[in-house]
Amino acid sequence: FKAPIPVNEPVRSYSPGSADRANLKRALAEARESVTEIPQYIGSEQVFSGVRENVTMPHDHRHVLAHYHIGTEEDVRKAIDAALAKSSSWAAMSWEHRAAIFLKAADLIAGPYRYKLNAATMQGQSKNAYQAEIDSACELIDFLRFNVAFMTQIYADQPSSSPGCWNRMVYRPLEGFVFALTPFNFTAIAGNLPAAPALMGNVVVWKPAFSQLYAANLIMQIFREAGLPDGVINMILVDGPDAGKVIFEHESFAGLHFTGSTAVFREIWKTIGNNLPKYRSFPRIVGETGGKDFVLVHSSADPLPVAAALVRGAFEYQGQKCSAASRAYIPSDRWPDIRKEIVAMLKEVKMGPVEDFRNFVNAVIDERAFDKIAGYLSQAKEDGLEVLWGGNADKSTGYFVEPTVLVTKDPYYRTMVEEIFGPVLTVFVFEPSDFEQVISMVDRTSPYALTGALFCNDREVVAHAADRLSNAAGNFYINDKPTGAVVGQQPFGGARASGTNDKAGAMQNLLRWVSSRTIKETF
Ligand code: GLU
Repeated sequence: FKAPIPVNEPVRSYSPGSADRANLKRALAEARESVTEIPQYIGSEQVFSGVRENVTMPHDHRHVLAHYHIGTEEDVRKAIDAALAKSSSWAAMSWEHRAAIFLKAADLIAGPYRYKLNAATMQGQSKNAYQAEIDSACELIDFLRFNVAFMTQIYADQPSSSPGCWNRMVYRPLEGFVFALTPFNFTAIAGNLPAAPALMGNVVVWKPAFSQLYAANLIMQIFREAGLPDGVINMILVDGPDAGKVIFEHESFAGLHFTGSTAVFREIWKTIGNNLPKYRSFPRIVGETGGKDFVLVHSSADPLPVAAALVRGAFEYQGQKCSAASRAYIPSDRWPDIRKEIVAMLKEVKMGPVEDFRNFVNAVIDERAFDKIAGYLSQAKEDGLEVLWGGNADKSTGYFVEPTVLVTKDPYYRTMVEEIFGPVLTVFVFEPSDFEQVISMVDRTSPYALTGALFCNDREVVAHAADRLSNAAGNFYINDKPTGAVVGQQPFGGARASGTNDKAGAMQNLLRWVSSRTIKETF
């Protein structure tokens, strides 16, 4: 049996005057009126420790949306115990019933929770309505539904048999528990990282980013309402390093599902390596980490789509996507037109709080991110880079950084090399005759290999450049922006310093959460 491949959840536009917009506005207003208490979810318990921290809005940092109740290392141990206590009954539940839970969760998000979850993502993570819709509604729904289809494809994959000999494959969950460590920038990723291993029969301990908790808490409630048994996914609110001490020492640690920074991923990998003798099995390590994503333009490209791709790719969600366009290589014969289009578009771009739907750019996630990005901007000004647009930052009410376009004469300037994770695009203008050398430059400038885009209308050049950049981007876009991978359509992930390239939104990822058992029987 194979489940049919689902249709991607249609993206709603929230256009002025629409019922969707009115409903979303209502959800935003309601969320502003109360302060949510966010507990840990450990087995059947919701643990309110009483030790509280504020969840505030990045675009209005005096407004407290919620308090989260911090846990301890003891809570991490309890979460592991709760997970392990559930592992045999969860693994024994047939796949249809596990699937039904996550399909119901997808339906709950598509229906009754859509506005509330979008509002939570908007207010908690400072995402505009459209960016929230493609994330906490569509992508999360798609992950949950497509995962079920991928799971049935995996289970259906059976070896051949012969008369007198029946061979079969049984796809067992991993023996132990999976640790999901999730980022602030996508609610869909926060939901999928614990959900994907759980669907495959694993039990999970989940530590969401504290700056994404407002939506994460709602996801946990939705999973429970959809029928997820207690203990299958346990959400802990303990600082990463403290949680890690307990998790990575545990003999039943069986897998890590991670999205976050390359530096943290390296540290964790080292810790896991050092602890290997303690584990029952070699843990599965799946990580999607940083990016320094390029847009390479050939002289044959049309200026308008390039400018649109740069503005959207670099500034949607304030550039806080691993996939964000952050370094552009543009030939001098195209630059005057592209530059004009970029400026014309950015003149129309408004920045401000998410509650005003005209604001395309909102705040960056927190003060640490703000200070880091602002540091890059002042350094660039000091270093004499041309600031084509933006360049200013203000954190008095919210963490606002203007969408900024820098132009550098040095293709190895630090903003061309280092991941900034903010609304900063750096452009290097080259002589059209240097295209060949620039391809090598694109390949070698950064340690990452997540996404990249090539704009070109000459098929021979497309074929050649795509080939030479084979290892430079796990997701390579021809004549499109390097962001916005759709589940089931563009499996997402990169290699080199960008992670293990296990392709979220595809069967490859789910295969990491099973331990296959081959059975041969003769008669
Ligand atoms: N999948 C997202 C995209 O294609 C990026 C995910 C991330 O930032 O981690 O834009």
